[in-house]
Amino acid sequence: MVKEASVPLTGQASSTKETQPALPAIGNVAEKCPKCKEILYRRDLEKNLKVCSRCNYHFKLTAHERIALLVDQGSFSEQDADIISVDPLQFRVQPPSHPDQRTYAEKLQAERQKAGLNEGVVIGHATIETHPLALAVMDFHFMGGSMGSGVGEKITRAIEIGIERKIPVLIASTSGGARMQEGLYSLMQMAKTSAALAKLGEAGLPYFSLLTDPTTGGVSASFAMLGDVILAEPGALICFTGPRVIEQFMHIKLPEGTVNSEFALQHGMIDAVVHRRDLRQTLAQLLHLYSK
Ligand SMILES: [Zn+2]
Repeated sequence: MVKEASVPLTGQASSTKETQPALPAIGNVAEKCPKCKEILYRRDLEKNLKVCSRCNYHFKLTAHERIALLVDQGSFSEQDADIISVDPLQFRVQPPSHPDQRTYAEKLQAERQKAGLNEGVVIGHATIETHPLALAVMDFHFMGGSMGSGVGEKITRAIEIGIERKIPVLIASTSGGARMQEGLYSLMQMAKTSAALAKLGEAGLPYFSLLTDPTTGGVSASFAMLGDVILAEPGALICFTGPRVIEQFMHIKLPEGTVNSEFALQHGMIDAVVHRRDLRQTLAQLLHLYSK
């Protein structure tokens, strides 16, 4: 149902592409931990799944890095990789004196080249320890993982893959929220993805939601928080409005540690905080449990 509704806003994708998850690229020799400021050798960091060995800070992963981390090697088949957002509002930054006067369409083009992706989410199907599942993995490196019509359409299609193939669905979220350049079209994706998840539920299929740093705004207010089981990586920012925005607009400072995974767990919003090295095993156990 949702497929047809979205066609005017997204480039049509008919192809099905078999792709292997890319391994993390090794560039510079070292990287500084943003939390504890430790200098970490990139090689050690990669070996440690991009988790700081000193303070346990979980660095952001690209969508393909996360897929490689979670699923059985060679099992991932990417779908609808050529779906893209269009520029329905002819969005331009205001005021005219702003240094970045690119249109949204031009910005999208630049983001595609920078991130090496057509949109801020990668979808497909794969197996985890031989259990099949449909998955959508968001990528913060593409416009801050913001949800526009392209992202919403792809998330919806990932859920529909689950319904069609009668397999569970996993969505790994990371997002700064709805994409303001598409205005109302972005907000509509909240209802669209939630409606698709309701259909998945009616079909009796489980939905696992994985929250990674950061999961905020329209994504946290829709599909990210609708999981039958909701997992989060340690220390991830999880909220609707980020603490910096609250401070700017309301002039109040939130107490330390009130917008992270651990706080969400303490207050019953999520089911577990899982270290990155245990994610694959935890998901395998859940898939096994729900297959009974
Ligand atoms: Zn650290």
